[in-house]
Amino acid sequence: MREITVDVIIKNIKEMCIESNCYVSKDILESIRQYKQKEKSPIGMEILTQIEQNAEIAKNKIMPMCQDTGMAVIFCEIGQDVHIVGGYITDAINEGVRQGYKEGYLRKSVVRDPFFRENTKDNTPAIIYYDMVPGNDIKITIAPKGFGSENMSQVSMLKPADGIDGAKKTIIDIVDSAGGNACPPMIVGVGIGGTFEKAAFLAKKALLRPVGVNSNIDYVKDMEIELLDNINKSGIGPGGLGGVTTALAVNIETYPTHIAGLPVAVNISCHATRHSTRVI
Ligand code: SF4
Repeated sequence: MREITVDVIIKNIKEMCIESNCYVSKDILESIRQYKQKEKSPIGMEILTQIEQNAEIAKNKIMPMCQDTGMAVIFCEIGQDVHIVGGYITDAINEGVRQGYKEGYLRKSVVRDPFFRENTKDNTPAIIYYDMVPGNDIKITIAPKGFGSENMSQVSMLKPADGIDGAKKTIIDIVDSAGGNACPPMIVGVGIGGTFEKAAFLAKKALLRPVGVNSNIDYVKDMEIELLDNINKSGIGPGGLGGVTTALAVNIETYPTHIAGLPVAVNISCHATRHSTRVI
């Protein structure tokens, strides 16, 4: 049994909160660079250039790339041969978020109650998902999620007879209705199968897959390519101001489901799709 102290978890979470908010990932920057070769709209091109400049400033000044530094969504894969010592892991993760958002001057966006809306002033609690896996380490991914795009996300419970065409239509309709509100260019995370909440979880997890990496299931890969192509024909464009760069990626994750259902969840993310992963 390997022991990991909560102090190590706190320190890593704190650093990851800051780094994920201040450094745009290489895959997104590379994708924007490629789309600039294809973008025909002058204003669309200008927005893509501004996103690149903004990323450079954020990196050099260690400032958040967007004012909405999101809710801290954290995925923890805990090796079953790990013993966490010195405290409770959930408390440690929230302490890391508290310290990271304070020290990084990141906006605190969490309210304690969905109706009475008093700000918790430290961006806690985080949204935390735990998964037990083989091994003796802990893999932590932090994905701060802004709500401009989160608010445009939906779950749709289709009928099995709706099939692949029905799922594609649902995804396109949800992206169309998001339009410029989701701060395009978007990353479209899709979860298909499971239950109502599993589909939503898969859609969130799909956003972690690097831009430019397709599913290793052939028909899913074909769906991803076709949907991305069609979404980019919508004309929504960068910032919703028109152009061919509406989405950088459509990432689909699937899971077995019930004979009576076909859940489809679409979690829309924006050009500030952030994540940072460490293994401790
Ligand atoms: S949707 Fe994304 S880019 Fe837009 S304000 Fe929110 S975090 Fe920032």
